[in-house]
This record gives sequence, C-alpha cells and structure tokens, in this order.
Amino acid sequence: MIAIEIPKNVKIIINELRKNGYEAYIVGGCVRDAILDKEPNDWDITTSAMPEDVKRLFNRTIDTGIQHGTVTVMIDKTGYEITTYRIDGEYEDGRHPKEVIFTRNLYEDLKRRDFTINAMAYNDEDGLVDEFNGIGDLDNKIIRCVGNPEDRFNEDALRILRAVRFAANLGFDIDEKTREAALKLSSNLKKISKERIQTELDKLIMSDNPEMLETACELGITDVVLNEIDRLKSEKVLDEVLALTKNMEKNHYLRWTSLFVYSSREKTKTILSGLKFDNKTINICSRIVGALSRKLPETRAEIRKDIFETGNEIYDVYVRFLKGYLMSECSKGTGKCGDREYIDFLQREYEDIKKNNECTSLKGLAINGKDLMDAGIEKGSTIGETLNRLLYAVMEKPELNNRKDLLNLLN
Ligand code: ATP
Ligand code: MG
Repeated sequence: MIAIEIPKNVKIIINELRKNGYEAYIVGGCVRDAILDKEPNDWDITTSAMPEDVKRLFNRTIDTGIQHGTVTVMIDKTGYEITTYRIDGEYEDGRHPKEVIFTRNLYEDLKRRDFTINAMAYNDEDGLVDEFNGIGDLDNKIIRCVGNPEDRFNEDALRILRAVRFAANLGFDIDEKTREAALKLSSNLKKISKERIQTELDKLIMSDNPEMLETACELGITDVVLNEIDRLKSEKVLDEVLALTKNMEKNHYLRWTSLFVYSSREKTKTILSGLKFDNKTINICSRIVGALSRKLPETRAEIRKDIFETGNEIYDVYVRFLKGYLMSECSKGTGKCGDREYIDFLQREYEDIKKNNECTSLKGLAINGKDLMDAGIEKGSTIGETLNRLLYAVMEKPELNNRKDLLNLLN
C-alpha cells in the first residue's frame, strides 16, 4: 500500500469537497513526485465538483482558468489549483481541444493526461488510483503515453517535447512505442506556441540531464524548436557543449548561455527572442556570449575595463559562467582552458574591486557632464566621448578619480 503524506491545507480542501458529497484527489505531478520521494512543486487537486461549486465552498478563490475548470483556492497566502474532472474534446489543430467537457468520472480525467506516471490520483480514503500502471512505469523508469502514443501526440504535439523533458527531469527512458511516435510526429511541434515550448525547454535545460537535448535532436524535436542544437551536432561539438551545460550550476542564465558558446551575441539574441524569452534573459545571455569573444583580462586594470564593457550588473553572472566555461573543453581557444588559478585570480580581484568601490562605470566618476560643460567643453557628443575617455583613464589608474586630476586631464 502506498501512503502519501498530504500537506495540511491540501487535506483541508479535499475534506471540504468530500464532506459536501464530491470526490477529490491530489493528481498528476505531485502524486508522481511524492511516490519518488521528491518534494512536489505544487499540489494539484482534481474533483468531481463543478467550478461554481468549488467557488461556493471556499472563501477566497481566483478564477485562474475557469474555462478549463481550474479555480485557485487561497489558504494562508498559498494558492491551490482545483480542477474539475474533464475530458478534452476533439483536437482539431494539434494544439488545443475544441472544447472542454466536464465529467463526474475520475477515470475519464486520468485518461486525458499525457504519461502514465502523470496519470495517477490519490486521497487518504481511496489510496492510489492508478488506471494505467503508472507505478510500474515509475519502478521501471519509463515515460509512456497513456493510450496510443500517435493519437496522443496528434492531439497535442507539445507532449512530444514533454516526453523528453520528463525523461531528463527524472532520469528515465522513453518507451519504444512512445519514442517511435515522437520521431514520426515531431515536425508537428511547429504548430505549438513558442511560450509553451519555452517552458518545457527551460525545464529540460534546468534538469539533472540536459544532455538529453541530444535525444530531442535524434527525435527531430530540436530541428523544430531549437535548431542551434542540430547545428552544434553537425559541427561535432554538441557533446562538448552539453557536457558544459550539465556541469554549469543550475541557474537559468548560466545554463542557457552555455548552449551558445559557439554562437554570436546577435544569434543568441535572435534565438532567445524567437523563443519569446523575457528581455532580462535575452540581455544577460547574449551579453555574456558577446564577452566570450573578447580577450580575457589579465591585470586588475583590465578587469575593471572588462567589468565596464561586459556590464556592471551582469559581471557577477559572467564570472560564475566563466568558472564553468574555463574548466570545459569548449574554452580551448581561450588559452585559459582548465586554468584554475586564473579563475581564482579573476574572482578574487573582482570581489576586491567591488569591495573597494573602484570606479567601473560612468556614474562612479568623480565628475559628470555638467562639470565638463562648466569647464568649457561644448555640449553634445564631445561630452560623452570625454567622459568615456576619463573613465578609461580612471579604470587604468583609480587614484585619478578626483575632480582635480580629472579636470587636469581635460587639457
Ligand atoms: P512539474 O513538476 O514539472 O510541473 P507536472 O507533472 O506537474 O510536472 P505540469 O505541466 O505542471 O507537469 O502539468 C500537470 C499535470 O497536468 C501533468 O502531470 C499531467 O497529468 C497533466 N498535463 C499537463 N500538460 C499536459 C498535456 N499537454 N497533455 C496531457 N496532460 C497534461
Ligand atoms: Mg506542475
């Protein structure tokens, strides 16, 4: 008998629904993760109650996805998603069902879910409800579609990518039939929105096994969603790059940047914008990639300039990236490949520069544009150019960062 420790608030919700004559279970990812002894990301509840019933029973609710039957119940500032049992209507476009039909039957709800390991429900009274042998697949570490894989991938092509990302998340294999269907239908991923693809790719890249991007490549997935991977493969550097990705600490920016070390700043920008990433991600990743094409700083003065040129706000992330990068095969061209001492030097000097508040930006200069105008420099682009020149002088020699020395430099 499998017993899952359900958090107090989730129990309260399930009990309240049951007390009122409805069925209610935890379902999906949380059941899977709890059985695997992993802390679930969130606790989703599935119920026979209609959304309006759920709203009637609880004080504080939010209509998160009411048209799909999802209501969020707030308890102690945490939200719990409660979704009415549903059948996904006919899929017309390989993306979303034409309509959502609510049902009173748990089996129907489990049947519409993507993989057997994601199609289990549980509550304290009935124990585990496992209609598709999710437990067997968890034991054997297998990702397998519920029902016929081709049908399921034809309904929603995103599931093809999800198969690989769950395999990567959990360190599982993909069942042969599911794999064959994925290979056959992966080109349908072109119908899927970039936002949905981005979410799944991000989870794959942030997993313990990002090298499974290679599997995604073999299945024809990356050709549609992240063609850069196929390019790396054809240039015979994919293994090297994925080893770098895997060794990078699990940080969203570092891991994504690692995929572009054989690319350019511009291309990184284009690819990440194409995946509809936020500006911060696009900016940080592309600027780090750009910085990699410059010579690595060798002296403290060069480091100050490098901080300015790379960007004060991102240098921290950049140094963390370099730590992984310089220890990897990919950095062979830098002349610093495997050079631990260099990384320690860079990190130490960088910390010290920050601690000493040494000037590495225009706003750290002891004079500003107005001072230059007062000193008779004409308005316009000359001001900016002069400030820049002074900044470089200061980054070379920090002791020059005072009004007197800087004004002297004007002559
Ligand atoms: P994670 O912990 O990574 O969030 P998860 O299993 O909770 O994993 P979600 O994407 O949050 O994954 O989806 C929650 C559940 O909804 C899944 O476990 C699955 O049962 C179902 N599901 C999600 N997306 C699909 C889909 N495209 N097709 C069928 N079922 C899906
Ligand atoms: Mg989830």
